[in-house]
Amino acid sequence: MSYISDVLDEVKTRDPDQPEYIQAVEEVLTCLEPVIASHPEYQKAGLLERIVEPERQIIFRVPWADDQGQVQVNRGFRVQFNSAIGPYKGGIRFHPSVNLGIIKFLGFEQIFKNSLTGLPMGGGKGGSDFDPRGKSDHEVMRFCQSFMTELFRHIGPDTDIPAGDVGVGAREIGYMFGQYKRIADAFQGVLTGKGVAWGGSLARPEATGFGTAYFIEEMLASRGEKLQGKTIGISGYGNVGTFFIQKANQLGARVVTIADENGYVHDPEGISGEKLDFLMDLWCVYRRPAKDFADEFGLEWVEGRSPWEVPVDIAVPTATQNELCLEDAKLLLANGCKCIAEAANMPCTADAIDFFIEKDILFGPAKAVNAGGVAVSGLEMSQNSMRYSWTFDEVDAKLRKIMADIFAKTNQAANEYNCKGNLFMGANIAGFKKVADAMMAQGVI
Ligand code: GLU
Repeated sequence: MSYISDVLDEVKTRDPDQPEYIQAVEEVLTCLEPVIASHPEYQKAGLLERIVEPERQIIFRVPWADDQGQVQVNRGFRVQFNSAIGPYKGGIRFHPSVNLGIIKFLGFEQIFKNSLTGLPMGGGKGGSDFDPRGKSDHEVMRFCQSFMTELFRHIGPDTDIPAGDVGVGAREIGYMFGQYKRIADAFQGVLTGKGVAWGGSLARPEATGFGTAYFIEEMLASRGEKLQGKTIGISGYGNVGTFFIQKANQLGARVVTIADENGYVHDPEGISGEKLDFLMDLWCVYRRPAKDFADEFGLEWVEGRSPWEVPVDIAVPTATQNELCLEDAKLLLANGCKCIAEAANMPCTADAIDFFIEKDILFGPAKAVNAGGVAVSGLEMSQNSMRYSWTFDEVDAKLRKIMADIFAKTNQAANEYNCKGNLFMGANIAGFKKVADAMMAQGVI
């Protein structure tokens, strides 16, 4: 048995009830064969055993009263995974599917994603099985206050800096920041994704979507192609999806689908103008279903099917884990799709990724493609430390450069380890190497 398969077996034995976490670990470790082969010292140092075990996992009760006065209890999580290259950094997800395995998968991904940004950020993730859908503003506020009342003792601007993720946007960050400030009696950069009037960075809301478009531009350029004139299919229409559409339009492409768990909207003309204005708020402000978009503009609504059946040049899953499976992958390629970019976290199943790689299709892995969000969170931290803020264009230019650098180092790692053009392996190797070097230098901790 190899070192890698031993560690993988140990993870599976220890946490058999965490399939998403096992999937995320398998994804990274299987890419590391050539690195481990050239670094035998990692095994003696127990490096992989340490990297798959979070430094700290916090699980807590979140009691709150609903609008009827009934007390509800949710479960809160913060997994502080790895602080080798900086304080723990990563979002908070509020969604009924959240459990320890989901937060561990997201936290594990975050370690390597944050490393790829080149900024000094470790990896962490948090969340709750609370569902903000259908809750009043006051209910969301009471929940966020209760969540932060426990979380505040575990975080800090030099310790752990949470942000948003699925179900946590500007509103939730505001309520959590307010409660932190009140308890800690300190106005500090302890969360990112803050409003610009109170320490947030310009271009943070746009960052993941814009960064995805910039990364796709780099991928296409490596094969002598441009985004201009391409048709794109996407799934979600939250923060990532909507700002991705905005940037894709600016770059001359056309986004023809959006979706939710019930079906998809098909708009062959492309989503722009007043349609995009309407879509911007549909989920992020009103948490309304995708069908409402079709109804509003008389567009085609396809119930119960996946958007990946629509012929497009580029597919960009922007919603959630495992939303694009092998069947979808085969259909996309059969319909002429030439590029897949993962804007959500782990949206493609493992067999779908294997298929893309086998077919030598341009495949951008999540860790690289969607790193723009956390990268601008890193820039928000820098601005908070300086007590200064950059203009939108300054932040956007830095984001663009960071995405180009991520592409370059990903591509270079692929070349160096004999898997030319395989950005999946390149991203995992490049992200891992920096963290591994830091862990080796810091001793057995
Ligand atoms: N939730 C985002 C991600 O998955 C952003 C995290 C952050 O800004 O800290 O990377």
